[in-house]
Parts: sequence; C-alpha cells; structure tokens
Amino acid sequence: MTGKSRVSYFYHPTCPLFYYGPSHPMKPHRLKLAHHLILTYGLYKEMDCYRPHPAAAGEMTQFHSEDYVNFMSKVTPDNLRQYSASMQRFNAGDSTDCPVFDGLFEFTQLYTGSSLDGALQLCQGNTDIAINWSGGLHHAKKGEASGFCYINDIVLAILELLKVHARVLYVDIDVHHGDGVEEAFYTTDRVMTFSIHKYGDFFPGTGHISDTGAKDGTGFSVNAPLNSGITDETYFHDLFKPVMEKIMQVFNPGAVVLQCGADSLTGDRLGCFNLTLKGHAACVEYVKSFGVPTLVLGGGGYTIRNVARCWAYETAVLLDKKDIPNEIPYNDYYEYYAPDYELHLTPTPEENMNGKDALEDVRTELLQQLQDLQGAPSVAMQQVPPSFQRAEATEEDPDVREGASKTRSGDGVRKQHPSELYDEVD
Ligand SMILES: [Zn+2]
Repeated sequence: MTGKSRVSYFYHPTCPLFYYGPSHPMKPHRLKLAHHLILTYGLYKEMDCYRPHPAAAGEMTQFHSEDYVNFMSKVTPDNLRQYSASMQRFNAGDSTDCPVFDGLFEFTQLYTGSSLDGALQLCQGNTDIAINWSGGLHHAKKGEASGFCYINDIVLAILELLKVHARVLYVDIDVHHGDGVEEAFYTTDRVMTFSIHKYGDFFPGTGHISDTGAKDGTGFSVNAPLNSGITDETYFHDLFKPVMEKIMQVFNPGAVVLQCGADSLTGDRLGCFNLTLKGHAACVEYVKSFGVPTLVLGGGGYTIRNVARCWAYETAVLLDKKDIPNEIPYNDYYEYYAPDYELHLTPTPEENMNGKDALEDVRTELLQQLQDLQGAPSVAMQQVPPSFQRAEATEEDPDVREGASKTRSGDGVRKQHPSELYDEVD
C-alpha cells in the first residue's frame, strides 16, 4: 500500500485489571504492559485512540446462544454453587481452564466491545486499520467456553464486517489452532479462515491440513499444522508469505481480521515455537501490505513481558515505524524487561522440528487447495455485491448514543485526547 494508513487503537483501562487466578497462565495485566510501551514509545500520537463501549448481551447473542450468554452474565464466584450443572454444560469453573473470576462478564464485555467498535470504524470507512490487543479470544464456541476464552469477539467482529463486505478473511498466527472461528464459519464461502499452528498432542487438537471446510465452505478453511521449534525464516518465507499471497489472489477479501496471538513467540510459557518479534511481525507487515481494511487483534501469549514487546512492536509496524529503538523506554513496568531492557528477542538454540521437505509438503498442499478453489465454476469471487449502509442512527449521532448510556461515562465508543491515556485506574 502506498501512503500512510489511518490507524485506530481501542483500549479500555479496566480490561487489564481482571484476574483469572494465581496459577492461571492468562494474565490480562499484559495488556497494561503493552499499553505503557505503546505510550512511552510515543506511538499513540499517530493513532486515533478510542475507549470502547462494553458489549451488551444482545450483541453477544448475534453468535452465542441465549442461554450461554445468560449464564455468563449471571455467574459469579459467590453464586457458582447454584450453577454447577450449567458450569459443566458451558465448560466453565475450577475443573476447567475457564475459571469464573470476579468481574468475568464485564471483562468479556470490554474485550468484545473493543473488537466490535474496531469493526464498526472499519465498516464506516473511518480507519484503515483498527487495533484491539485485548481481543482475539479464538477458542470460544457458540455455547461453550474453551481455552481461556468465553465470548468469541472475533466471530462477532467478522459478523459485523460481513454486513458491509462480501468476503472476510481471518488469519490466525497464535500457536494454537483458531478452532472457534473456523467452526463458526466452516460451512460458508463468505469467510475464509487461515490458521498456522502447532498440531499433534497440543490444545485444542483440531486444525488438520485436510480439514478444509464443508458444504458451501469447502476449501475455505485453510490449516497449516506445524511441529515445535519453527523459526522466523521458515515460518514466514516457506509458509506464511506464499500461502497468504495465494489467498489474497484467490479470495480477494473486502476486509481482514488478523489474530496476533503472541504465544507463537520464542520462550512462551505455553507455546513451543521459536519466533522472534521480527518473524511474527513480518506476518503483520505482509497482511498490511495488501491495503485491505484490517482489524488487528491479540490472542494468546503467556510470557507477558514478551507479549507486551510483541504488540508494541506490531503497533509500530502498523504505523510504518518498525525502526523504533531497541532500548525499552523507561516506563511504569520497566523492571519487567530486565536484564537486557531491549525490545527484540533472540531465538533459542532448540531444534526446528519442521524439516524443509515437510514444510514444502504443507505449502504445496495448501496452494493446491487454493488453486482448486479458483477453478471451481460456482465460485465467483471477483464480483463484490453492493454493500449497504448501516441504518443505526445512534452510531452516527454522538448525542443519541450518549443519551442511551448516560449513567456510565465509559459507555459508548469515545475518541480520547492523548493526555487522557495516562488517566488510568491502578
Ligand atoms: Zn494460543
């Protein structure tokens, strides 16, 4: 893309304050670390910064079942005994990896509202790139929590984008398979999902290369299963770039949703890949190069100092500032970056269990899958049906929106003055 992209950033200061529990690897606090790097690198000055609205239950049921959202909105650590049957049914609680913690529903409202606001700004043409590092919870199912994810903000954002765009591409570089998103759109040709992930004796167990979709969606799920230890060069050049290039050529999406799970980085507490920020961000930069409206989301990431490094650097990359200093600027969480206080990571000497031949096999099979799609006579993907305008006056008129939510000043998407970004609750 030539010329500068307009970038919007969605951040709610309450989101990092939620706590899954002492031994749980998911730490929303990582969002605050990332935010402070983004502030102290001065990146906020070049973006439109928004405080998102908390998504309402009625927005969540656009994808999730009513009884599941109803349960999510009511269950708390204090009343969970009366919900024991529901907890089993919805896969939540202490016997699962999706605990019921204080403020759980509000947490889901904030990260989901952020993704929905990002999608809306893209749909309205107000921005080229929308960033929500609190989103990307790709494992949540229609009626079930899974893998630290409760409400699937990605599916909901894609549904929003489909109101305006004929085809939406979902790209997932988290170390885990993007199963919740794939499942939601498995039978449609309007959403293509592309996930690169560790496969074999690894959560969630899905994402085999031969899982390509069903019915109208046959061929529209693209899965690249990998072994442990993959490096920047092999991940990006041997796989991501050639497959992505073919996808853009064949599918020609009107919008892209990119899940940037940082558990694919070297040294992640749960992951097993060996990517540095440069390899991970090369994917982000390549997606951006197509100049298609893009919603950029977070996801996994369990060595939180590296998650913050990654998402701050990727914010810089999206702003065409990938040369930001390697020295971490002094900030409230500076001690997290000891002992080197540097931005970039060094890969470990571990073996890359993905041989050149195996990678070539995966690449060849996926390129063939995409080529077959292009040849399918019933699929006319170059024609874009006319889009329609949203008829919701409330989105256009800030007064109406404000009137609808005047009890809470944080409600409703609101553009922020840079000075406000430091006014946070600690
Ligand atoms: Zn993950």
